Amino acid sequence: MSQFTIKYPIVSRYLTTPSKRRSGKIIPKVVFIVAHDTGNPNSTAKGNVSYYENSRDEMSASAHLFVDDKEIIECVPALTGTPEKAWHVFYNVTTDNQLYGVNANDAAIGVEYCYGSKINADEAYKRYVWVIAFICWKFNLDPQKAITGHCFLDPTRKTDPVTGLMQSRRTYEQLLRDVVAEYAECAGEQSLNTVTVVPPKTGKVKATVKLNIRSGSPSTRAAVVNVVPPGTVIDYTDVVQGDAVNGNTTWYKDTNGNFFWSGGVVAL
Ligand SMILES: [Zn+2]
Repeated sequence: MSQFTIKYPIVSRYLTTPSKRRSGKIIPKVVFIVAHDTGNPNSTAKGNVSYYENSRDEMSASAHLFVDDKEIIECVPALTGTPEKAWHVFYNVTTDNQLYGVNANDAAIGVEYCYGSKINADEAYKRYVWVIAFICWKFNLDPQKAITGHCFLDPTRKTDPVTGLMQSRRTYEQLLRDVVAEYAECAGEQSLNTVTVVPPKTGKVKATVKLNIRSGSPSTRAAVVNVVPPGTVIDYTDVVQGDAVNGNTTWYKDTNGNFFWSGGVVAL
């Protein structure tokens, strides 16, 4: 495996185990990443981890990493030790199973973004993007497919990380683009898309993100006629070349003659 540029230290401050928040159960195989935010403006990485430790036997909610403008702290082992399970998405949510074939808590690393007026958004965001890219590299995950947001898995209850990112003037789509670029930079690869997979001319794909369906042409400037949630299965009738998004120029044409970008879907 290639090298990955370590831009920031990862501080391990593990929660006491066994406890409600840290069971010590091992993740058999890391399959994806769930992007979260703390939902608590101006709470810091250090503050959140201290709170988790102090209330470790009162509640089971947990996550692996907290990121603010100064630190990346790992409180349940993921990058700095054998990955253990953390409790960051309700088990009764089914979207994770539909998208990745497994419950998030059993197979995903949960990363929490700290935000707020007292947290330098640019510095926190840089660290957040980098650590997500590093998780992709460490567990051999495709950064274009292996990242989802809590709000996409549990849309009736959650708005993170979109809310936190918004307060840092970023969108979720921006985060995904930046993680892909960071991965390419830190792994020393020009772009993942230099490996071009030519999909069959017709078939079915499944959206992995909130996907824009555009009319007229395979272009990010074409009008959005529909937005479908992650997990939506779409029939396509053609594969075409269009505007580059993250260096990927492949788009699909759906049965209505509209277009959507290939980076937002997985083949079925
Ligand atoms: Zn969350």
